Amino acid sequence: MTLPEFGRLLHGHAWTLLILLFLAAAAWEILRPRQERPEGRWGGRLALHWATSLALFAGGVALLGLLPLGPLEPWLGFEARGPFALAERWGGHALVLLAGVLALDLYGYLSHRAQHAVGPLWRLHAVHHADEEPNALTALRHHPLIHALDALVALALLAGLLGLPLWVLPIHALLWRAVNLLAHANVALPDRAERWLGLVLVTPRMHRVHHSAEAADFETNFGAALSVWDRLFGTLRERASDVGAFGVPGLRGDPRWSAPLGPWLLPFRPWGSAGDGRPAAVPPAPRAAAPNPVSPPPLAGAGPSRWPAGPSGDGPPDQAPPRRM
Ligand SMILES: [Zn+2]
Ligand SMILES: [Zn+2]
Repeated sequence: MTLPEFGRLLHGHAWTLLILLFLAAAAWEILRPRQERPEGRWGGRLALHWATSLALFAGGVALLGLLPLGPLEPWLGFEARGPFALAERWGGHALVLLAGVLALDLYGYLSHRAQHAVGPLWRLHAVHHADEEPNALTALRHHPLIHALDALVALALLAGLLGLPLWVLPIHALLWRAVNLLAHANVALPDRAERWLGLVLVTPRMHRVHHSAEAADFETNFGAALSVWDRLFGTLRERASDVGAFGVPGLRGDPRWSAPLGPWLLPFRPWGSAGDGRPAAVPPAPRAAAPNPVSPPPLAGAGPSRWPAGPSGDGPPDQAPPRRM
């Protein structure tokens, strides 16, 4: 089987893979939670949280499916173009895959940073951060607008403009989804696994720091699947102690944000004294020197509906890139 055939195969089974990965992460955190939830493993608040997270995710997938890809469509294809065609000439499909995975993951990192830096994007992304007890479903808890926008921009930039062949998307999506679900799950990896995996991949401990409500942690660890971008750009932060509190400081404890429609409306409501929700003074991100060191990329749900029918037909959008955290 060639790599493009493998990509098409994954795309045809995108939903099955997403459900299996989610069930694995959820089973892990239910059976061996890192931290017991205040109301136990099956509390009513958890059920509401799961329901709102799933509804948000479904909203994002539906919105992406409704957006017209028409003008973009002629630029999307399974054949590499531009710089990716050069990569294919020099190193075949393997080099295209390597370059494509790096490009998609770098996009995920930069897009995540933009969502923290640009006011309106932050308001949308804050839906993800407002979760005060992150768990596996937090990985899917993004406002539908940012979900769809992120996927669309990734597709336009990388596939449309730079010529990334579409078969790379589901392969990166599989890696990113697996890492992202685990990174949000309420689980703890053994120290040694954290250390070794963390050299290349985003780990649960690393991403917990990104969700911390403490000022020093707030603008760090933006990585999607790979931790290399945080190392390279000096935004990696590792803590000796575990994170104490999660969430957006200005929104913590406000019952409006945990109501069923709260996350949908969060970006558009006045936040009052919460300002933009972030800590008043965020120190510059620590440089990699100290022991310091993430939908879909946002292609989560970005699977264009224009996939040629593969072995299993034209499946649902890839629950892969755009994600942010
Ligand atoms: Zn996150
Ligand atoms: Zn974030």
